[in-house]
Amino acid sequence: MCDKMISMNILIVGAGPAGVVSALAIKKNHPDYNVLVLEHLNEPLKKVLATGNGKCNLGNAKLDWKRFSHYDFVSKHISDYSFEGYREYLNSLNIRTKLIDNLLYPISESAITVREALLLEAERLGIKFKLAESINSYEFKDNFYEVKTDKSSYKVDKIIFSTGSKSSPQLGSDGSIYSLLVKHGYKITELKPGLSPIHTIEKTRVLEGIRVKANVVLLKNCKKIHKESGEVLFKDSGLSGIVIFNMMTEISRNGNGEYKILIDLLPEFEVKDLENLHKNQTNEEFLKGFVHPKMLKYFLENHYEKEPIKYLKALPFTYKSSYGFEFSHVTVGGVSLTEIKDNFESRKEPGIYFLGEVLDIDGPCGGYNLAWIFHVARNFNF
Ligand SMILES: Cc1cc2nc3c(=O)[nH]c(=O)nc-3n(C[C@H](O)[C@H](O)[C@H](O)COP(=O)(O)OP(=O)(O)OC[C@H]3O[C@@H](n4cnc5c(N)ncnc54)[C@H](O)[C@@H]3O)c2cc1C
Repeated sequence: MCDKMISMNILIVGAGPAGVVSALAIKKNHPDYNVLVLEHLNEPLKKVLATGNGKCNLGNAKLDWKRFSHYDFVSKHISDYSFEGYREYLNSLNIRTKLIDNLLYPISESAITVREALLLEAERLGIKFKLAESINSYEFKDNFYEVKTDKSSYKVDKIIFSTGSKSSPQLGSDGSIYSLLVKHGYKITELKPGLSPIHTIEKTRVLEGIRVKANVVLLKNCKKIHKESGEVLFKDSGLSGIVIFNMMTEISRNGNGEYKILIDLLPEFEVKDLENLHKNQTNEEFLKGFVHPKMLKYFLENHYEKEPIKYLKALPFTYKSSYGFEFSHVTVGGVSLTEIKDNFESRKEPGIYFLGEVLDIDGPCGGYNLAWIFHVARNFNF
């Protein structure tokens, strides 16, 4: 441990998109500030490389902000958002973008482009990084914060916590920051995995590997709470795919209860059309014409072939558990929004800020989370 304290204007804890993009914004607004980004992994922006299956889904041309948790808070920050404005910002960083089915990606279709562009801009602006270094404590002393890490001590004017939350800890966001924040009296709302595959009570091994384009309904205690269309992927012990990821978020947001997922395997067919087509066929013959052989086997194993149309239009699955934080893309919960002002500053500790997924805000799949984080981070100012 060094005895001498290193002086910095701004210390940003966490080199994810929230931390790096806000560092760029601060340095642009205050070129004379010393800005240091502290990262406990030995590389910055590691998670970005894993986003969008390595392609980095940066945004969504049809983004519906109401799908975020705590829309009332989110809505205060989006009046100046425009999709074209966002693309122009990315363009200014040399991240050229394109749309694939309304989803925004770098033209290169590589998340490496995004990471390298952000780091190049950070270097150009003189932002410093300290890697493989963890914060242990911070304390307010008269007019500055003294920050102690496992390697150094810092004297800083302001601290931004942009440590992410608990999802995919293998990518750095291990939730370790929350114990420090609890010591400082912050309320952390319950942390649960969002956007993840789910385990079902029903055994799905026979279905493993099948993908279907379906309409999916989520019931809580027999009441419909969410519906969505898209691809469902059957796994050896449950369900996955974008629609299921979003269902997991809804389950985590809606608390305890019995959750059922009904999958309409034939969304393009009305029941009465199916009834007409079923005439003069046995149930099994009828099913063979519509479903994958593995699905037929599943129907037979569960005796669903006795009422084929009913189960084709609403194949039921019972939620057992999520696949856990390790497999989740975002966390539901975080630093409570009651702890911060509209400018993301702590209400109890002036000069302390929270940005990004560390907060209790999460969005669905489809570029929502990065679009929100880039938006607030690039507009961040003191
Ligand atoms: C596999 C995967 C795919 C995804 N794909 C997409 C997608 O395509 N589109 C989309 O919009 N969203 C996607 N997301 C979600 C998106 O990546 C996150 O919401 C976003 O990265 C959060 O940004 P952040 O900066 O708040 O936190 P993070 O990206 O989690 O970054 C936090 C950083 O802080 C560091 N850190 C944590 N604790 C400490 C500490 N105590 N001290 C120092 N450093 C610390 C971490 O190592 C990390 O580098 C995906 C997530 C995952 C896991």
